[in-house]
Amino acid sequence: MTPRADRFATIAAKVDAGVPLDLDDGVVLYRHPDLCALGSLANRVRERLHGDRTYFNVNFHINATNVCHADCKFCSFARLQPGMPQAYTMGLDEIRGKLVERRGQRITEIHIVNGLHPDLPWSYFLDTLRVLKAERPDIHLKAYTAVEIHDFARRYGKDYEQVLRELIDAGLGSLPGGGAEIFAPRVRQKICRDKASAEEWLEIHRTAHRLGLRTNATMLYGTIETIEERVDHMLRLRALQAETGGFQTFIPLAFHPDGNDLGKLPAPTGIDDLRTYAVARLMLHNIAHIKAYWVMLGVKTAQIAQSFGADDIDGTVQEEKIYHMAGAETPQTLARVDLVRLIREAGRQAVERDTLYNVLWEDDGAPLEGIRVDASVPYSRHANRVNLAQVQ
Ligand code: SF4
Repeated sequence: MTPRADRFATIAAKVDAGVPLDLDDGVVLYRHPDLCALGSLANRVRERLHGDRTYFNVNFHINATNVCHADCKFCSFARLQPGMPQAYTMGLDEIRGKLVERRGQRITEIHIVNGLHPDLPWSYFLDTLRVLKAERPDIHLKAYTAVEIHDFARRYGKDYEQVLRELIDAGLGSLPGGGAEIFAPRVRQKICRDKASAEEWLEIHRTAHRLGLRTNATMLYGTIETIEERVDHMLRLRALQAETGGFQTFIPLAFHPDGNDLGKLPAPTGIDDLRTYAVARLMLHNIAHIKAYWVMLGVKTAQIAQSFGADDIDGTVQEEKIYHMAGAETPQTLARVDLVRLIREAGRQAVERDTLYNVLWEDDGAPLEGIRVDASVPYSRHANRVNLAQVQ
């Protein structure tokens, strides 16, 4: 056995024995030349946790404003000043209208992420949640990244806990995972220096978990970070998860170069995408789900990722702006039937979940024609908590 194969076998034995991997292990996995062997190892963990299941949900996105005072170099969404071409801010009626026009659809989640608007009053962000809850009390609001929470705290003179408590009272159900980018200060300083630091991002999620919110975590990969910095990012998330247990899902986000200041960098390759999913599954033994966000990854790679560690493909999405303004060539929406077909073709069983991974529907292989976005399917609502002890 070559030294490289020997090292891979040692790491595989650690994975099988449930021993957490360290930074060196993660770097070796990233550099291992046999992508199929890496994918197969990650798939072993994925199937131990989730069997053949691939989760999706029926959701839509609201990006209520793209006005933002920050200047992240990878961002194609933000317009720095109100009044700039393509700058917009939705009124509350327009926000409510997004739900009104979808009356009758069995949507379970709204995902809300915005720019850091310098002038809006605090009431705007509370009222956004209130008007949506008034229209559809049953819907789960996954809203405002830690970067936005940090900005609210600074702008409106509150601490993180106060901000989160007021948002929870207004209807907040969980936090999305955005804004983490890469935690390494060297990279943050260069690509997003004027927003929440790594420590602040982590502290907000720690506070949210303490208040009973579940949250997600992301990692932006493919800009100027090293492999070591990617693995370090995962380890910092793993450490917080060991402390709080509040993360549900890790979502690697591939950098898109169109329309931003890093446009000279190439986008990550498909091989890099798959390696990143596999390494994430193997490093993050204490986070239940790895999501292949089809909008950013592309539908085809999101399907393949279901055999490289991912067990979730996100949702119907609808009206996504952030990555489409960065050149994502994916469709604006996928219907429920499209997601089920994609998952079936990937050799997995489609499972519709709500935001908190309660199972709502499981694919029994019936003809696709009967599956529509607004289909009234029977709920089999039961908690579907993953037993992470299986991989620890
Ligand atoms: S990534 Fe977010 S915080 Fe940064 S410029 Fe874009 S909208 Fe603003």
